[in-house]
Amino acid sequence: MSSRIKIFDTTLRDGEQSPGCSMNKEEKLEVASQLERLGVDVIEAGFAISSKGDFDSIALIAERIRNPVICSLARAVSKDIQAAGAAIKGAAKRRIHTFIASSPIHMAHKLRMTEDDVVKAAVAAVTEARHLADEVEFSAEDAGRSEPEFLTRLFSEVIAAGATTINVPDTVGYLSPNEFGDLICFLRASVKGIDTVDLSVHCHNDLGLATANALAGVINGATQIECTINGIGERAGNTALEEVVMALHTRSDFYKAHTRINTKEIMKTSRLVQHITGSFVQANKAIVGANAFAHEAGIHQDGILKSKRTYEIMDADMIGLTEGTLVLGKHSGRHAFSQKLKELGFNLSGDPLNKAFDRFKLLADTKKEVSDKDLESIVADEVYQVAEYFKLKYIQIVAGNTTRPLACVQLKSNDELLEGARTGAGPVDAIFQTIDHIIGEKINLVDFAIHAVSGGTDALGEVTVRVQDNSSIYTGRGSDLDVLVASTKAYLQAINKMLAERSETRVRPTV
Ligand SMILES: [Zn+2]
Repeated sequence: MSSRIKIFDTTLRDGEQSPGCSMNKEEKLEVASQLERLGVDVIEAGFAISSKGDFDSIALIAERIRNPVICSLARAVSKDIQAAGAAIKGAAKRRIHTFIASSPIHMAHKLRMTEDDVVKAAVAAVTEARHLADEVEFSAEDAGRSEPEFLTRLFSEVIAAGATTINVPDTVGYLSPNEFGDLICFLRASVKGIDTVDLSVHCHNDLGLATANALAGVINGATQIECTINGIGERAGNTALEEVVMALHTRSDFYKAHTRINTKEIMKTSRLVQHITGSFVQANKAIVGANAFAHEAGIHQDGILKSKRTYEIMDADMIGLTEGTLVLGKHSGRHAFSQKLKELGFNLSGDPLNKAFDRFKLLADTKKEVSDKDLESIVADEVYQVAEYFKLKYIQIVAGNTTRPLACVQLKSNDELLEGARTGAGPVDAIFQTIDHIIGEKINLVDFAIHAVSGGTDALGEVTVRVQDNSSIYTGRGSDLDVLVASTKAYLQAINKMLAERSETRVRPTV
């Protein structure tokens, strides 16, 4: 007997909360569409009360994405629950996820509430939420450090009030797999009505144990796993979807459990989220890292040639890691181009398709063969653009070993052309100083990274920058054959994101 495990994806809520991973409405919809193709059961699309942007994104996803359940987070207070209910109203399947802290340290210092107060608030929240959604999930924030007996009481009461899923978050990533498994086992045995609802786990990776803890939960009777693509999330992140799904898939003999995930969509989803957030996974990342399926050592290669099973426990094509069937070059037409994008998981039409096609033609003139990775980079560049407060018109750079680097930049803002020139310690410094001068603000650059999209000296350069504004971090990315142009695009995108979000104040929950 194999039990079915529901996959609750919180890339757009918990993942998006991590510094530098914020996404705009269009980007979130693109990710949600891919999550639907991946086959997740629930999409937590955001935290409706936190900002107008979050509310609008949830409403848009609720309207467009029909197969998964669409969920919004809400604290256990009426205004949050009403906002969540309103945001998911258009969805085919609705869930409200409400939470309140249950650990002694959180109850005493953060909430200043007694156990009785917390139970009362939780029951009221679940009751109210059930009027607005068929499915109500309740989380006991910081369950990992809560008294198990109190959790039993709290969960039993919210189930009686109508909760359909009970979630056990190890909010601060504190527990070891054995402890977490024991907690799930204890709750499975002690909570009244637990067999009538889903029992969910939500783990954080502070000690590198998020995947191990989630799987310990499954062994002990959890029926839902909360996770994010590439494990993005606050601090060290959440359980990585691709890791738990492939663990259950590869070792179904051991876990006796399965999911409804279409594993062939994993790689596509991972790359999409990397491009949109600018948060790239390390080469040795399990499942989706560049080296995860590269068997380079000579002895391994020999073994692999003789029999794949000697060193490979998974097939690369199981996660969709296959070279595309269509190779594009300078003679490829618009139709072949859009077919190829579909193969890569992008459904473009109209203006974004035209813009991406023009970029592709320019690139194909310079490069003989345009790879899948080049295309992904182009699409990310052209499609996931934010409102452009400042747009690049031209840039000219003088650099070399005997000259002081100088940048001349022209930007367009509304219909006004703005120009400036500055020298700098290096050409990138000169460009960024010039842009700061033009927009009249010293931008706080916190990170700058550059990598080649594919091999060869004619590779596209992809630049990711992070800029900080108060406590928020904005990521910008840009690609170009010229790394200085790519740097300029990335810097401007981060600034445009910052300006777009400056007016919005956000509330950040910690579940
Ligand atoms: Zn979390």
